[in-house]
Amino acid sequence: MRPESKKDKQQRASKIIEILHKSYPDAKTTLDAVSPWELLVGAILASQCTDERVNKITPQLFAAYPTISEMTEAKLKDIENIIRSCGIYRNKAKAIKGSAIMILEDYGGEIPRTREQLLSLPGVGRKIANLILGDAFGEQAIVVDTHCARISKLLGLTGEKDPAKIEEDLAVVLPEDSYTDWGHFMVYHGRSICKARCRDCVACPLLRLCAYGSQQDLEGREAGDCV
Ligand code: SF4
Repeated sequence: MRPESKKDKQQRASKIIEILHKSYPDAKTTLDAVSPWELLVGAILASQCTDERVNKITPQLFAAYPTISEMTEAKLKDIENIIRSCGIYRNKAKAIKGSAIMILEDYGGEIPRTREQLLSLPGVGRKIANLILGDAFGEQAIVVDTHCARISKLLGLTGEKDPAKIEEDLAVVLPEDSYTDWGHFMVYHGRSICKARCRDCVACPLLRLCAYGSQQDLEGREAGDCV
């Protein structure tokens, strides 16, 4: 079989997106946040923690420190006590307070709007920076989390392991106006059908377009069977 050309892959990616739009029309970030600052804090807390748990913790954190300025005055110990159940809480508390200080002192109290500036904040890597650009500021940015890395690979849209390289591959094949949606779709699909330990390929609307799924012998299998 001839290798898939870039153009073929782009066309296949567009068809995949069309289906994902229909499957998950309301896909959006699953972190609760009413401002870019709240989203940033939620994203820092979400590292190695579920969004569900983060959403239980943030109301208490923002009730105690409602503004960026108040967060700069918080004692690290007090932040740690509130966020403890999120894991790696000492680092996260430092990153939250450190980001608040930098935003106030270096960015006039506003969350920076460029990737480079976002990356200058403590605890903020490319994944969080892209999340903020996409979900807080309406830019197009691909968030490569574990769902995105795993499913994009199964779909045959990347062969890379490194998130930065996966992002580069996806940026070539996805339509630019779908970059932000792609991250959301991958989370929704990874939670509902293409789970890490149980891929329900028979029930998957992407089966025909998926490099992995289309190579499986699914004869006799039913929806709900793990592949
Ligand atoms: S066909 Fe299977 S491997 Fe491919 S995206 Fe669907 S569930 Fe995942």
